[in-house]
This record gives sequence, structure tokens and C-alpha cells, in this order.
Amino acid sequence: MQLVDIGANLTHESFRHDFDAVLERAWAHGVVQMIVTGASHSGSDHALELARAHPGKLFATAGVHPHHAVDYNDLTDTHLRVLANHAQVRAVGETGLDYNRNYSPREVQLQVFERQLQIAADVGKPLFLHQRDAHHDFLALLKRYRDKVPAAVVHCFTDTREALHDYLALDCHIGITGWICDERRGTHLREFVREIPADRLLIETDAPYLLPRSVRPQPSHRRNEPMYLKHICEEIARDRGESADVTAANSTAAAQAFFGL
Ligand SMILES: [Zn+2]
Repeated sequence: MQLVDIGANLTHESFRHDFDAVLERAWAHGVVQMIVTGASHSGSDHALELARAHPGKLFATAGVHPHHAVDYNDLTDTHLRVLANHAQVRAVGETGLDYNRNYSPREVQLQVFERQLQIAADVGKPLFLHQRDAHHDFLALLKRYRDKVPAAVVHCFTDTREALHDYLALDCHIGITGWICDERRGTHLREFVREIPADRLLIETDAPYLLPRSVRPQPSHRRNEPMYLKHICEEIARDRGESADVTAANSTAAAQAFFGL
């Protein structure tokens, strides 16, 4: 089984002390390539640095997460444009809207999301998107830019069937995390994950967050790692009524096409 983790926050400080071991465990568990999420100005620099140190294996995104939208200024915009033009940076983002926590005011989130949509349009790269409790505003803005960008993935999709079909109608890809392995809050996803076309279904750990609850035994530190991607693939396969090998092969082909790996 060969897997691509399309959302790994490997710049997170929790990976600093054993980074090489985390990579080794991922490769040993069937992960062949990973996209390192850039979610802030300095985090995007760091993601690119990791990608450059592991050519052909790690790739980066460059963006500012809606939580950090208040930190976004003209310098950030200029800097992201430089990063986005780099060959190892395969998508603009993580960007989007998060009205669940509202760490940045909604008005600021909207402005900063739109500026990054414009960057993706200008550099002609795919979008790596985050949406939480903001479907209506997010969809409205994305619609205006969708034709200007080559592709877009709504990462860590946790929303409703209706939202899913709104994104599919916009020809978006959908990223599924270990949320689907959570029997307390992910069961709705199990009912409609089969409705995602095989060539637009991408899988991701969102490590170090969202440790799949199907990992047994649960590690005491609760840190998620790319090595657990297989558990997510297996749950999705069960829900789609197909073998995990089929889910893995299709999602890997989809990820490699989406990010040009
Ligand atoms: Zn996210």
C-alpha cells in the first residue's frame, strides 16, 4: 500500500525532537510522499525548508491560516508570492475561514482569504483550503475565484452532505482526516464519503492533530503522526465498500495528479 499524506503539519514544535524518526516511521508504514502544511508566514518558510531538505519526498504549501489572519500584512503578501512561485511549493494555503474559534475577526479573515485566493490565481497553483463553521461565506468567495485557479482541495472536510456537494459542484477535491475515525463526531462522514469521486478523494492526517481514535493502543502523548494514515484509509475503504488497497491506489493517484508529485 502506497499513501500520500496531503496534510501534515511537520513544522509543529512537537516534531522537533524526533523529526527524522517520524519520517522513518511514515515511510515504513506505506507513506511515500507528504505535503507539509504552511499555515503562517514563518511556518511557510519552515515548510519549504523541509521540502528542500527532502526532495521528491516532502513538498510544501505556503499560506496563512484564518486563525492567524490578523498577522497578515503587505509584507506577508509579498513574501507568500515569492514562496508560492517556488517549485517545491505545490499549493497556496492553508487559507480559508474558521468561524468556530474566531481567533481573528471575521472581516479580517474574509480579506485575508481573498488576498490568498488572488495569489493562487496569479501564480496558477492549486488551493489548500480550510473551512470550519463558515460554509456560506467560504463558498461565496471561493465561487468567484474557482475558475481562476487550476484546482482546490477543501482539507479536513467535516461539514454536511450539502456542503460536500456544493464543493464537488465547484470541481473541488476533498481531504478526509482521522475525524472520520471518531465514532463520537465523525459518523455523519461515514454515510456520504462514498459520494466523493475516487479521483477527487485525498487523505491526510493533519498531524500532530486529530489522532485517529481507531489507533490501538492510543499513544500516551496523543500526538498524531503520518504513520497512522493507513487507519484513515481503512475507515474510508470500509465506508465506501471497497478494499483499502483500492482506496489507497486511487487517493495516491489523485494526490499525485493534484500536487504534480
Ligand atoms: Zn485546517
